Amino acid sequence: MNSMTFVLFGATGDLAKRKIYPALYNLYLDDKLPDSFSVIGLGRREWTNDIFQSSVEQSLESFSRRPLADSAKMEKFLRAFHYHALDVGDTEGYKQLLEVIQQREAELNIPENRLFYLSVAPEFFDIISSNIYASGLGSTKGWKRLIIEKPFGHDLQTARELNANLSRAFEEDEIYRIDHYLGKPMVQNLEALGFANPILQALWNNEYIANVQITASETVGVETRAGYYDQAGAIRDMFQNHMMQMLMMTAMQLPKRISATDIRNEKRKVMDALRLLTKEDVITEVVRGQYTFGEIGAKPVVGYKDEPGIEASSTNDTFIAARLWIDDEFWKDVPFYIRTGKRMHEKSTKIVIEFKNPLKDLYAHEDKETAPNLLVIEVNPDSRVSLQLNSKNPLNDGKLETITIDFSANLDEVPEAYELLIFDALRGDATFFAHWHEVELSWKWVQPVLEAFAENIVPLHPYNAGSMGPEASRELLEQDGFKWW
Ligand code: NAD
Repeated sequence: MNSMTFVLFGATGDLAKRKIYPALYNLYLDDKLPDSFSVIGLGRREWTNDIFQSSVEQSLESFSRRPLADSAKMEKFLRAFHYHALDVGDTEGYKQLLEVIQQREAELNIPENRLFYLSVAPEFFDIISSNIYASGLGSTKGWKRLIIEKPFGHDLQTARELNANLSRAFEEDEIYRIDHYLGKPMVQNLEALGFANPILQALWNNEYIANVQITASETVGVETRAGYYDQAGAIRDMFQNHMMQMLMMTAMQLPKRISATDIRNEKRKVMDALRLLTKEDVITEVVRGQYTFGEIGAKPVVGYKDEPGIEASSTNDTFIAARLWIDDEFWKDVPFYIRTGKRMHEKSTKIVIEFKNPLKDLYAHEDKETAPNLLVIEVNPDSRVSLQLNSKNPLNDGKLETITIDFSANLDEVPEAYELLIFDALRGDATFFAHWHEVELSWKWVQPVLEAFAENIVPLHPYNAGSMGPEASRELLEQDGFKWW
C-alpha cells in the first residue's frame, strides 16, 4: 500500500475517538497500514502533539477491540499522529496546513498521497472542500481522496448542491461516502451468498421469491441527539441511506466481474428500476410512526414527545415501514418491505427472503400447511445465515415441522465496520462506499415521502415503546397476504 497522509478534520470529536482511532490502531496491529504513515489531526482547540497523542491513546484504551500493545509498539503508532489547530472557516489556516503536511511528507520521505477525512458536522463539508481546493492542498503529485460521513444532504436538492460543491474539488472516484452498514461483514457477504452459491443464485428472482423483508430495529430512543434527530427522523437517519443500501445489496444481480465498478453498476440498475412514488402513493405505501411510553426489557420509558429537547407538538417519524417495487425482469411483482424504528422490541438488523410456497397444501390430509422456506440473513447484533425448511419429525409420529439450518459467525475477532472501510479507502477500493448515483436515486425515492410528511397528509401512527411498531405496519403486509417474520 502507498505511503500517505491521513488528514483528519474533527480530530477532537466523538467519531474520531470512538471509531476512527481504534480502526487505525487495529489496522496497524494487523500490519495493514503503510510503513510510512502520517496522521494530521485538525480541530479548533490549541493542542500540542503530546496532548493529541495521549488523547488518541486514551480513546484506544476505551474503544479499541484489542488492548494496548507494548510500549515500543504503541510509541511507533502514536508518533505518526501530529496535531494542527485549524478553524474550518480560516482560509489562511489552510495554507499553513499545507506547509505542515509538506514538511511531514519531506521528513518521512513519503509521496503526496493525501486522504482527507471530514469527521465534522455536515454544514462544514462545503467550506472545507472549497478550501482544500483553493489552498492547493488538493493539488497533489500523488493521489487524493475524500471520506465523508452521513448525512449526505437533507433532501434531494441539498444533496445535489453538496455534491456539486464537492465535485469542484474532487472527482467522483476520489469521493468515499461512508455508509457504515456497508462495512458490516454480513452486508458485505450478501454478494458472496447470492452469487457464489449457484443454488441461491438460481432462486434469486421473482420466479421463486415471494417477498423480501428488511428490518433494522433499535431499542434505544432519541438519547442525547434530539436536535439532530427531530429534524432528520427515521426516514433520513436510517431509511435514505442504510436501508436503501441493504435493499441494493440484496436485489442486485450477478455482475460481470466482482469489482467496484461492476458491483456499483448493478446497484445502480436496481435504483434505476425502483418505482418512484407520488405524494399520494405515500399514503398507501408508507407507514409513519412515533413511539409513545412503554417498556423496554421490563423498564418503563417515556414517549418521544416527552424526551428531553423534543416539543410536545413534534410530528417527527421514529418509525417507517414501506413497500417498494423494483420494476425489472428479476423483481417484477416481488414486494420489498422495509421497516426501521427506535424504541422497538429488539435490537436487530436482518434481511428475510420469503420463498414462494406452491406446495402449501401437500399435507392437507394431515391438517397441516407447509411453511414457506425462509432465508434469514442477520446482520446485527449477530452475524448469522439460516434457512428454514420443512421436515418430518420422527419423534412426533413423522409429522411435518419446520427445521432451521444455520451458520453463525464468531464475531470476536471480526474487524469492525470502520476498520474494513478505512482499509478499503486507504487502498483505493470503493466497492463498499455509496456512489453519488445511489445517493441521488435514493433521495429521489425519499423526496415525495419527505413532502407528504411535511404536509401531514400521511397519518402519524403512535406505537408503544417495546413493540414492533404500529398496527398499520402489520396491515401493510397483510394486504398482500404476508406477515413480518
Ligand atoms: P463532534 O461534535 O463530537 O465532533 C466535531 C468535531 O468538529 C470536533 O473535533 C470539533 O473540534 C470540530 N469542529 C467543530 N467546529 C469546528 C470549526 N469551526 N472548525 C474546525 N473544527 C470544528 O461530532 P462527531 O460525533 O464526531 O461527528 C462528526 C461527523 O460524523 C458528523 O457529520 C456526524 O453527523 C457524523 N457521524 C457521527 C457518528 C458518531 O457516532 N459520532 C456516526 C455517524 C456519523
